[in-house]
Amino acid sequence: MKDANPWENARQRLEAAAKQVDLDPLLHARLAEPDRVIEMSLPMRMDDGRVKTYRGYRVQHNNILGPYKGGLRYHPKVDLDEAKALAFWMTMKCAIIDIPFGGGKGGISVNPKELSEGELERLTREFARKLAPVIGPDKDVPAPDVNTNAKVMDWIRDEYDTVTHTSSPAVVTGKSVGRGGSEGRTEATGAGGAIALQSVLRTLGKDPKGLTVAIQGFGNVGSHLARYVKQMGCLIVALSDSKGGIYVPRGIPDLDAVEECKEKSGRIAGCYCVGSVCDLSNMVSLGGKDIQPEDVLTLPVDIVVPAALENAITKENANKIQAGMVLEMANGPTTTEADEILAQKGTIVIPDVLANSGGVAVSYFEWLQNKHDEPWDEEHVFKALQEKMEAATAKVAEIANARKCTLREAAYVLALQQVAR
Ligand code: NAD
Repeated sequence: MKDANPWENARQRLEAAAKQVDLDPLLHARLAEPDRVIEMSLPMRMDDGRVKTYRGYRVQHNNILGPYKGGLRYHPKVDLDEAKALAFWMTMKCAIIDIPFGGGKGGISVNPKELSEGELERLTREFARKLAPVIGPDKDVPAPDVNTNAKVMDWIRDEYDTVTHTSSPAVVTGKSVGRGGSEGRTEATGAGGAIALQSVLRTLGKDPKGLTVAIQGFGNVGSHLARYVKQMGCLIVALSDSKGGIYVPRGIPDLDAVEECKEKSGRIAGCYCVGSVCDLSNMVSLGGKDIQPEDVLTLPVDIVVPAALENAITKENANKIQAGMVLEMANGPTTTEADEILAQKGTIVIPDVLANSGGVAVSYFEWLQNKHDEPWDEEHVFKALQEKMEAATAKVAEIANARKCTLREAAYVLALQQVAR
């Protein structure tokens, strides 16, 4: 089956929300297409001397609220439509979390796991040289996304500084702390998701203690979210990556051990860890079992968390979702058709544009710290993050309540009202 087109999905969301707020036609037209699309050819010398050419993208969707802002993704499925959708969602997200940024996104169509460290650096530096004329601290500020991290951001900053003869830490966020990054940026998206979840549970009068949670994707976002949600008292019962997953109905005892095991073995399947011992002999004592990656979303749990890629919840599996709540940590994990099915079933969806906005909130704090040359400590960062997430969640919940609509519809209403203002 062909994957749903994320840009179509994004456009459908815009059309539905525009009707709700009676959007000015000129603004509607501005939001219906990105301001600018940049496609790049990225030739790179491989370690064996061959030259391979990759395609890179940067989409600048809208900058009414401030410089374009959004991640860079390295993945074989990166293409223009995906980048356009992700850039549109960034415009919405920055408006919802109330920071002075617009929306951008980009990346390279590449499987970085097939590259050596040296190849990855050369490809990133080539990308940064081609991006340099269109990015900048007050123009467009990239950040990490799938398969990119602080090291990649440091290379981009370094290359940008070299070609522009400046020292510009604020050109990218998500850098390492020694190179101008913020305390707490790596954990921010997961931490923000946990705050949003806690706020929604509070409005529903539900205690997080003992609620069971299944998480699809155990990368940056999924792994940190898991830890914060566990701290809230929830029970993490299932985790998956692209190769497989584990299901422990009584709760996975040690997330750090699972992460270590995944790092060592390259996969999460089989990571049944008791103390420092992670092997299949523990599976029986824990009452666990291996699951297929697609099964993690349909387990009998209270909350499911898609934290991997787009189109995880589709019309094919939406009806099989047993959880009463979906916390969307990935961008665009639910297709429009699936969203309608979930709404009819009464499943509460905490939408991506709210749930994962903690990452860009702390990116904004990093940008502020760079601009003022004034580092914040971790406590300051997390306090500011908590305030932003709670304020945005309260506004979204209030609109949903007043309009008797879903949290997603309310989030888009809030975003469009903010941009229109
Ligand atoms: P990551 O590369 O660190 O992790 C992605 C994880 O998803 C990996 O564990 C991978 O194995 C897994 N995965 C891929 N396909 C899968 C599948 N079919 N089933 C199960 N797992 C699968 O990326 P990340 O930074 O954690 O980003 C995850 C999602 O969160 C993306 O949608 C991204 O756009 C979104 N997001 C990230 C940030 C951020 O700050 N990193 C901020 C906002 C939103």
